[in-house]
Amino acid sequence: MTKTDILMLNPMRPLVEPAVAPFGTVHKFWEIADQEKFLAEVGPRIRGMIAFVASCPRELIEKLPALEVIASSAVGYDGIDVKAAAEHGIVVTNTPDVLTDEVADLAIGLLLATIREIPRAEQYVRSGNWPKAPFPLTATLRGRSVGIIGLGRIGKAIAKRLEGFDISIAYHGRRQQSDVPYTYFASLLDMASEVDTLIAITPGGAETRHLINAEVFKALGPNGIFVNVARGSVVDEAALIHALKNRTILAAGVDVFENEPHVPAELIALENAVLLPHVASASVHTRDAMAQLAVDNLLAVLGGKPPLTPVPETPWPPAK
Ligand code: NDP
Repeated sequence: MTKTDILMLNPMRPLVEPAVAPFGTVHKFWEIADQEKFLAEVGPRIRGMIAFVASCPRELIEKLPALEVIASSAVGYDGIDVKAAAEHGIVVTNTPDVLTDEVADLAIGLLLATIREIPRAEQYVRSGNWPKAPFPLTATLRGRSVGIIGLGRIGKAIAKRLEGFDISIAYHGRRQQSDVPYTYFASLLDMASEVDTLIAITPGGAETRHLINAEVFKALGPNGIFVNVARGSVVDEAALIHALKNRTILAAGVDVFENEPHVPAELIALENAVLLPHVASASVHTRDAMAQLAVDNLLAVLGGKPPLTPVPETPWPPAK
């Protein structure tokens, strides 16, 4: 491969730079003071882009006329304008599968933390309250029925784990899947009325924006538990806060927010919410596996080979 120019959009795992550097000059975008000047001078030479959860609007894509690949270290790619990429013959790659189990594990952890109030119970011990009185009894997972919103790779891994808990499992998606034993609901509202626990694990983006709203919370009801490990955009956050405040639902476990890393003070103030800083895939093991797959995708395309995991919107070979 002839040496080329590679744009790294944001800080990545330490393995990335030494793996990529032999093949090109790595430009660290976040360290460049005058990014417009850089794009005007170096932009035309950039053939590859790599990033952790790439955020790449059309405006940036169109300033990089030689770009061939956007390798994102994430499975969700709602921050990348894939339509613009496809129009310009750029392949977008993500990191499916390597994070599936990690995210499913965290989803189950968050579900249990929310129902059994594990963070509050832990705080109870640390703050010295236990000798004064026992911790109040909590809600239970026993006898619950869970509805998974988005039964894809991660949704299925969550369902597999839930099977071990001996509870009933349903799912909502745009189509019914013939090879799963769970109850299908074409309507999210119908599923929310039938179950008492919802776990969201769909992609983000325009199509799923505010899929989970006030109506869904009303249908879920006062014993309802809601867990979001998908994207902040899939939930109407104001409606969630209202539902938690007014006990329209019982509690929520939230890993993703509409305006990360900013979490509304109103949500932080609520005792019936367990809040995590978008950590579902955030172990060293899994983040390294994601970063390595992003590197492999980048180097494959720059070397004239097919990418390992292109997203469906930008199939290989590109129509450039
Ligand atoms: P998949 O593509 O395998 O699954 C996505 C699922 O969502 C599919 O089953 C699809 O079913 C369903 N879906 C898509 N659009 C809609 C819609 N409009 N309404 C209802 N269901 C829909 O992806 P993964 O399981 O690998 O990942 C899912 C998402 O999880 C990622 O896109 C990302 O947003 C999120 N994620 C969050 C992480 C975190 O840190 N919290 C980490 C990793 C992923 P159908 O086609 O039948 O509609």
